[in-house]
Amino acid sequence: MTTVDELWVLLRKSVTMRDSVRASLAEADGRVLREPVMSPQDQPAFDRSAVDGFVVLSSDDSPSFRVVDEIRAGQWKQRKLGRGEAMKIATGAAVPCEGCEVVMLEDAVEDGAAVRLKQRGRGNIRLRGEDASTGDILVAVGRKISAGVAGLLATAGCTSPLVTRRLSVLHVATGGEIVPPEAEPEAGQIRDANSAMVGAWARPRGLQLTQARVSEDMPALLRAIEGERDLLLVSGGSSVGGHDNTAKALAEAGFEILVSQVAVRPGRPVIVGRRGDSWAFGLPGNPLSHFVCLHLFVAAAVAAMEGGSPRPRVRNRIVAAAVAGNPRETWWPAIAESRMIRPLRWRSSGDLTSLARADALLRVPPSGIAAGDEAEFIRAL
Ligand code: AMP
Ligand code: MG
Repeated sequence: MTTVDELWVLLRKSVTMRDSVRASLAEADGRVLREPVMSPQDQPAFDRSAVDGFVVLSSDDSPSFRVVDEIRAGQWKQRKLGRGEAMKIATGAAVPCEGCEVVMLEDAVEDGAAVRLKQRGRGNIRLRGEDASTGDILVAVGRKISAGVAGLLATAGCTSPLVTRRLSVLHVATGGEIVPPEAEPEAGQIRDANSAMVGAWARPRGLQLTQARVSEDMPALLRAIEGERDLLLVSGGSSVGGHDNTAKALAEAGFEILVSQVAVRPGRPVIVGRRGDSWAFGLPGNPLSHFVCLHLFVAAAVAAMEGGSPRPRVRNRIVAAAVAGNPRETWWPAIAESRMIRPLRWRSSGDLTSLARADALLRVPPSGIAAGDEAEFIRAL
């Protein structure tokens, strides 16, 4: 049986990076940057006041200052201040000359056209180039366009970053027992949880997701998985039951089956197939298994296609309670707190109630974990 680490290695070695395209900032979030973004100018580009207040020469210790003008944000009023002169200045406005400091409004006493300044020597200026100099790398290759990165790119005027093209993903939920979430299940039926789960997982990652729900019979399944895309995910039917047709259907559709079981709990019946550049995953239908396989394996394939790191970021933390081991390594729903990771109660791999509270998956080796041990986990949302 393939181990988790072996599958990560396989994906890292075999999944190829997709082409890059220029995308508008509005379409780039969640995607991976493919060229470094340099600062086209110093950041800030000019000395800017960090507060609302009065700007005076640092060397000027006059007891009181004459307010000669006002500089609002966006204005450019360069002039050499004289002794005893102050200008009112707004947060973000350009400082009028060199050798200045700004005294915040709260430390100033205004008296007509004059002002007395109580608290001196604090500067309160964001100096030109203090964040970055012209030519500095602001964002490195491989970084995801997060909210913070998007703001920085906008500041630098990089409005069409080079990112990996959007990956196309088809998720097909199979099973005679599943009905759409909006339907009232009849006796013996259940609502499809996995389609909603995969949708919520895929959208913030910038994936172009198409979804379908079909019976597990071969003709329906084959029809549903027709066509070409980067990733095909089939929910359910990946095990060895008489109606488990995923492996057969993938093979029939031309996928070479590379893995048919992984030594992981939950989620053993994972099928991994390749057809040219496109990859297929048969994922167990149990929602928790589905969730674990998405985060461990599908995420790794997505990252390799995008040009990010193809192994999930595994961190270490002290575990708050003991978890028994199993011959297969276990990835256990948990809550990652600042100093500890807390395993959640988990009855079966169909248990969604603990999953809804989890923000991490704790890696439990076959030997188990004692309370106070350090163990590995990944973030999983
Ligand atoms: P399977 O992987 O098809 O053997 O299904 C394993 C278990 O997961 C069974 O109890 C199924 O009823 C359940 N299951 C399969 N697909 C879904 C789904 N989309 N949503 C919720 N439960 C599912
Ligand atoms: Mg089934």
